Amino acid sequence: MLKKDRHPPLLLKVLEALEKRKSLTTYEADTKRRLLKGWQGEKLFDSMTENIPGHQFILNDVRLNHRGTTFQIDTLLIRATEIHMYEVKYYDGDYFYENGDFKLSSGSPILNPLHQLERAKTLLTQFLEYHNFSLSVHAYLVFPHPQFFLYQAPPIREFIFLSQWDQHVRNLGSSIPLPRYADALADLLSSLHKKDQPNSDFPSYHYDDFQKGLLCPGCHSPVHSETKVCTCDKCGSTSSISSLVLQAAEELEALFPADPLTTGRVYDWCERTVSKERIQRVLAGNFEQKGRYRGTYYV
Ligand SMILES: [Zn+2]
Repeated sequence: MLKKDRHPPLLLKVLEALEKRKSLTTYEADTKRRLLKGWQGEKLFDSMTENIPGHQFILNDVRLNHRGTTFQIDTLLIRATEIHMYEVKYYDGDYFYENGDFKLSSGSPILNPLHQLERAKTLLTQFLEYHNFSLSVHAYLVFPHPQFFLYQAPPIREFIFLSQWDQHVRNLGSSIPLPRYADALADLLSSLHKKDQPNSDFPSYHYDDFQKGLLCPGCHSPVHSETKVCTCDKCGSTSSISSLVLQAAEELEALFPADPLTTGRVYDWCERTVSKERIQRVLAGNFEQKGRYRGTYYV
């Protein structure tokens, strides 16, 4: 049973929103590509874990802070007597394993993900002990990309290559029904999960830098319409005004998470071309309303 869903990284949402209204620097475009690839790998792995038979709770993307140290786990499987944690590496192409290092086919070493896994495993074990849960922790590195190949791969039991996944699931065996404390643990992990926050890696930008207005979701060209539906002059794709307003509101939310999402701010972001009544209806239908009257905002 899925207990915690995965959300796209905040930085990926920011870069995707930025890209629609200004051109990204090479560094930003590379970061976006890397984050998108990682996200695709994690979603692929989610589709693999959701079919594991037996009794378990699945928590995707858990970021915890234990006694001042932050660690992150891509996927957690809580079973009756043990926890399985997975770190997903969506590498593709040829890599080498040499003297305990991961190397690209060019010979350049990359950070060994096994070290990151061991660190997270140690911290999770300490976290469980601290909260009085006596479950053994099993940690794995999963490589779900079908084109990934690791030359000279040693038989490290933490590694799971795509071709080994079915066997891994069989080895997990049939699980016994979850005891009551599994619920308490899943709730604790979900409640202590630290949300993604903007940090120094985030690009800097200002509200006034942006060209306002509705954008075609297909080609990101500015679009205008007096009716409920609008057709892009450039690529011909058709969208409802409501979906364009929702897209604009989501961009604003991703780019300026510290500012409350209000009808007035979305109105301005849409270049004041859509009525406030329509914007208010879209926000009320897609977000949770907080506050009242002139202090109303949406989350
Ligand atoms: Zn278009």
